Amino acid sequence: MDKVKKSDAEWRAQLTPMQFHVLREAGTERAWTGEYTDTKTVGTYVCAGCGAELFSSVHKFDSHCGWPSFFDPLASAAVATRVDRSHFMVRTEVLCARCDGHLGHVFEDGPPPTGLRYCINSASLRFEPKT
Ligand code: FE
Repeated sequence: MDKVKKSDAEWRAQLTPMQFHVLREAGTERAWTGEYTDTKTVGTYVCAGCGAELFSSVHKFDSHCGWPSFFDPLASAAVATRVDRSHFMVRTEVLCARCDGHLGHVFEDGPPPTGLRYCINSASLRFEPKT
C-alpha cells in the first residue's frame, strides 16, 4: 500500500474544519450529529482524507450509539488500530491504514459474527453509493 503523507497545512487546505479535527487531531463529532449515523443506503465508505475504501454498508448495523457503526472493516488491511489511553480510558483507536487518519474506536460489544463495533466518525468518511 502506498502511504499518504501530508503536512498539516496541506490537510487543512483539503479538509473541512470538522474533517481535519477528527482525522488529524483525533477529534470526535458529537453523538447523533454525523451525516452517516442512520444511513442505510448500499455503498462503500471511503476515507475522507485519502479516499481509501474502509467500510461497507454490508457490515453497518444499528448500534444506537450515535455514530456510524460497523461490525467489520471492508478489508482488515484497510484499517490500523492502536491503544488510546486518552480521556482516562483505555480504548482501541481505529485509523486509516493509508493516511493514518483517525476514524474512531473499536469496542468488543458488537453483533455476530465478529462481536466488534467499529464506532466511526461520519466526518472521517465519505459515502459512495453503489450505482
Ligand atoms: Fe485515509
